[in-house]
This record gives sequence, C-alpha cells and structure tokens, in this order.
Amino acid sequence: MPVDPQLLEILVCPACKAGVELVPLPPEECAMLVERYREKFRDEVPEVREGLRCATCRRVYPIVSDIPVMLIDEALPAAG
Ligand SMILES: [Zn+2]
Repeated sequence: MPVDPQLLEILVCPACKAGVELVPLPPEECAMLVERYREKFRDEVPEVREGLRCATCRRVYPIVSDIPVMLIDEALPAAG
C-alpha cells in the first residue's frame, strides 16, 4: 500500500519544518536501508523503494514498509 497522499501533505522535515516530496531511492541505498532496518522488523523483510526529500535541506527520509521515518538521525545525507 502506498503512502497516503494526505499524509504526505502534512509531513514536514523535522529539521527545518519544510515540505517534503516523494522521491525514488537508488537500489544501493535501498539495499543499505533494508539491512539497517531488518533487525527492527522481526517477522518480515522491510521494503524500501522511496524516500521523502526535504525541499530546503535536501535530507531524504526513508519510507520503510510504507512507514515514513521522519527522524533527523535516520535521514540520508543530501544527494545529487
Ligand atoms: Zn529540511
């Protein structure tokens, strides 16, 4: 199930309170994130395909098994 568009509208970057946009993540970052979150998902392999990028600071917050992880410590550094 994709992330609810209405939820996307209310999500903001926890660092700068700016809006975020849905972006695809490169396969190598998805694989890295699956490994990072695997131990937190005891009964299933987490699914990571997309993230939410802050329009201002460009941090990318991963979406893990359809759950946006809006934590500064978990964000991917700005890419591109
Ligand atoms: Zn930000």
